[in-house]
Amino acid sequence: MTDKQFSFGDTSTAFADKSANELRKMNFLFTLMGVPELTKIGTFFIKTLLKLNFPIKKIIKATLFKQFCGGETLEECQNSINQLHKSGITSIPDYSAEGEADEKSYAYTTERIRQTIALAAKQKAVSFAVFKVSGLGSSALLEKIQKTEESLTEKEAMAFERIQYRIHSLCESAYLSNVKILADAEESWIQKTIDELILQMMQKFNKEKPIVYNTYQMYKTTSFGNLKTLTELSLQTGFKPAVKLVRGAYMEKERTRALEQKYVSPIQLTKEATNKAYDEALRYCIENKIALCAGSHNEESNLLLTELMKNYAIPAYSETIYFAQLYGMSDHISFNLAKAGYNVAKYLPFGPVKSVMPYLFRRAAENKSVTGQMSTELKLIRAEIKRRKNV
Ligand SMILES: Cc1cc2nc3c(=O)[nH]c(=O)nc-3n(C[C@H](O)[C@H](O)[C@H](O)COP(=O)(O)OP(=O)(O)OC[C@H]3O[C@@H](n4cnc5c(N)ncnc54)[C@H](O)[C@@H]3O)c2cc1C
Repeated sequence: MTDKQFSFGDTSTAFADKSANELRKMNFLFTLMGVPELTKIGTFFIKTLLKLNFPIKKIIKATLFKQFCGGETLEECQNSINQLHKSGITSIPDYSAEGEADEKSYAYTTERIRQTIALAAKQKAVSFAVFKVSGLGSSALLEKIQKTEESLTEKEAMAFERIQYRIHSLCESAYLSNVKILADAEESWIQKTIDELILQMMQKFNKEKPIVYNTYQMYKTTSFGNLKTLTELSLQTGFKPAVKLVRGAYMEKERTRALEQKYVSPIQLTKEATNKAYDEALRYCIENKIALCAGSHNEESNLLLTELMKNYAIPAYSETIYFAQLYGMSDHISFNLAKAGYNVAKYLPFGPVKSVMPYLFRRAAENKSVTGQMSTELKLIRAEIKRRKNV
């Protein structure tokens, strides 16, 4: 650790807002998630029991859901939003219902996101709104549009117009309310369509200041080139580029599909290559004054960003640079950065328990220990329990 201002290992700051009882519960939960077999079996049983309408919602809501989500509704998120804000951390309420794919649910999702924009306009504790384009329209259609050789039927063209209308109306609401809005990045077979749609929004709404942010997944070999193209375009056509940088969440899916359909995988060959690309992208954004939201739980990358800011004399509180983590994860990074004065935001998922289960299963999978070693989260929780016993 090279930074003198703070240490990510400071567990007293990381868990300052957690009671002894809450820490014990977290210890139990992360210990269970650390056993790969249990996570696999648990996931299977929960899926089956939910399908059979077994009354397990209460148990999930008190455990997994409580750890990683703000609530079932935006109103239920308010406690977590207030709690985080006491430690100088802002929230990004993220309507995370997955799996529903019809026009009614796309319209419903659009309205949930509009609610988050309204909340961000009212409360300083909410720093961004966020959406997934696949939550506003059919993924199959987005994929078909990306395959330019296939023309759309009249019905599909109308459905695409509705997607464009929903995106435009959300970005316009954000612009009119002076709220920053992030578009998440998704699978490569729909991402080009998403990039094109979000670029149009940036060109329209980022003329004076960064409002619409697109996400770049640095595990993709083409992302750095795309970032440069965005910068060149912004200079030519006069808008403020704004990006969220992440490593990327769909690696297995991407590689499997590339193998099955016999095309070259778009993903970097190694973790080191992804790390290098991510850190270069951070450097590029700082050098080129691109508004940035760095979504990462990687300690080295977060530290690098603090060092880059220092080297370029950018104050920690600069409105154009945010550090972001997911709610319930990497509090040692979020709380210590916030204590040092940086802008930190937490994605705060919300939605009906049943519909956010895919999100929760991904968190459980991410936290399971493949190597038999304890996860970072668990190590830190146990270190804090031990520290409190000794004071
Ligand atoms: C606030 C926030 C917002 C996010 N938004 C999005 C989003 O919009 N879209 C999205 O896709 N993801 C998103 N993510 C998830 C993100 O992409 C990562 O999956 C997750 O954060 C883990 O990466 P890391 O930087 O935290 O840390 P690390 O644990 O250091 O990195 C893990 C990541 O490295 C990459 N990786 C691992 N092994 C290899 C390998 N063998 N070869 C190549 N690369 C490898 C993968 O991307 C993996 O997820 C978001 C994460 C955060 C915190």
